[in-house]
Amino acid sequence: MLYLFDIGFLPVRIWDVLDILIVGYLMYQIYKLLRGNIAFNIFIGVLTLYVVWWLVNQLEMDLLSAVLDQFVSVGVIVIIIIFQPEVRRFLLFLGNTTLRQRSTFFGRMLDRNLENTEEKARQQRAIRSALLRMSKRKTGALIVLCGNLKLEGLVSSGVDMDAEISEPLLESIFNKYSPLHDGAVLVSDGLIKSASCVLPVSENPNLPSGAGLRHRAAVGITERANVAAFVVSEETGLISLAVDGNLRRRIEEKEIKNLLSEYY
Ligand code: ATP
Ligand code: MG
Repeated sequence: MLYLFDIGFLPVRIWDVLDILIVGYLMYQIYKLLRGNIAFNIFIGVLTLYVVWWLVNQLEMDLLSAVLDQFVSVGVIVIIIIFQPEVRRFLLFLGNTTLRQRSTFFGRMLDRNLENTEEKARQQRAIRSALLRMSKRKTGALIVLCGNLKLEGLVSSGVDMDAEISEPLLESIFNKYSPLHDGAVLVSDGLIKSASCVLPVSENPNLPSGAGLRHRAAVGITERANVAAFVVSEETGLISLAVDGNLRRRIEEKEIKNLLSEYY
C-alpha cells in the first residue's frame, strides 16, 4: 500500500515518512516550548531515568529494575503533574490558533462593512497615541491585545470596564494617581474590557536582566495565550511588545502602526 522504496530489507511506505515527520515536528515543538525553562532540565532528568530503566531491564538486573518499574509506572501521571503549565500552554496554543484562524476567516466573510474597519482604525490610532504619550511622560503601562479571546482562568482580580477605547481613557487609567493604574488593561472585542488585572509572570531566565515584573507579566500572558502585550516602561519610557513568549524592546514610533495592525 503506497509503497515508496526499500532501505536494505526494510520497505518504506509513505505513512512511515509521514510518521517520522510528525514525530519530528512534535519533538521540535516540545523543545521550543521547554527551551530556557526549568522544565527542560526535568525533561532531561526523566529521559535519563527512562534510559537507565531500559538498560537495567536489558541487563536483567532484577532488583534495580523492580525499583525503577515503580517510578516508570506512575511516570506518565507524574510528568503530567510536573508539566501541567506546559501541557496547558500547548493545548491552549492548539485551541487558540485553530479557533483564531477560524474566527478571522468567518470574521472576514461577515464584517466586510466599512464602518467596522474605520472604527478599528480609530481604535488603533487611539492605542498608538496613548502609547506614545505615555512613553514621553514615562507613565508605566501594560496593554494586552486579546483579539476576541477571553482570558478566563489566566488573569485575576481585574476591574470590569467594557469601555470604548480612547486615548484619554487609557492615559487616565495608567496615570499613577489613578486607583486602576496598577496592573494590566485587557483590550478585546474592540473594548477596554478590564483594568488593573494581574497577569501570570514569566519565569523565562533568558529575559533581559532589566525586565522587571511589568515586562515579565507581559511575556507571561503571551506564553499562555495567543495574545500580544504592549508595555511602556516607567523607568525608561521605552515601549516593548511581547508576542509568543518573546519580548521585543525599544519599539520605534514608526513601527507601532504596523505592529498594531498586525496584532490588533
Ligand atoms: P518599568 O520599566 O516600568 O519599571 P518593570 O518591568 O521594571 O517596569 P516593575 O518596576 O517591577 O516592572 O513594575 C511594577 C509594576 O508592574 C507594578 O506597579 C504593576 O503595575 C505592574 N505589574 C507587576 N506585576 C504584575 C502582574 N503580575 N500583572 C500585571 N501587572 C503587574
Ligand atoms: Mg522597574
